[in-house]
Amino acid sequence: MKYYILFGPPGAGKGTQSLLLTEKYNFIHISTGQLLRDEIANGTKIGQIAKEVIDKGKFVEDQLILEIIDKQICRAPQGTKGFIFDGFPRTISQASAFDKILTDYGNKEINAVLSLEVADELIVERIQKRARIEGREDDSSIETILRRIKTYHSKTEPLIAYYKERGKYYPVRGELSVEEIFNNICKIIDKI
Ligand code: ADP
Repeated sequence: MKYYILFGPPGAGKGTQSLLLTEKYNFIHISTGQLLRDEIANGTKIGQIAKEVIDKGKFVEDQLILEIIDKQICRAPQGTKGFIFDGFPRTISQASAFDKILTDYGNKEINAVLSLEVADELIVERIQKRARIEGREDDSSIETILRRIKTYHSKTEPLIAYYKERGKYYPVRGELSVEEIFNNICKIIDKI
């Protein structure tokens, strides 16, 4: 079983690349953001808790996210070749909890962190474009977008050093075309 993390700021293109990768390699795509939006759409208790936090551009608490991850890994069908985690882990505490979860699953570990590197200015542009297409509430105001970028820099960016130290970090230029980025990611996956 392979475990890949698709890493990068909001709007970097993680969702787009995840879908392409699941098609090519038959991996399972786990997007914590999408799972939370599904909970919100279904009006569940988790959704109610998550909505308030997400609309402010903040993070949902770790315990809830870890439960979601654990459930998704357990429910993967027999014959699954690997997982793409998109939007998780997002904090150092989630990353170390995730390492522990994988160790407990029979001494597993992350294979690679595929990191889409994109400048802040381009991120804002992309999210505003996505807002017009997908109508996500957390994309709708510039204040929330900027808040999410700020939260990314303070809470999520430290993961780069965390995974570099462990020899798992693979940067990919995120300003290229969807196809070029996809090809570069595939090269990394096929090499390791
Ligand atoms: P984006 O890639 O634009 O940040 P996501 O769909 O990954 O969008 O996430 C949307 C929101 O869901 C985040 O801003 C955050 O509030 C919440 N969220 C998603 N994943 C996590 C996580 N691992 N930990 C905490 N909150 C999360």
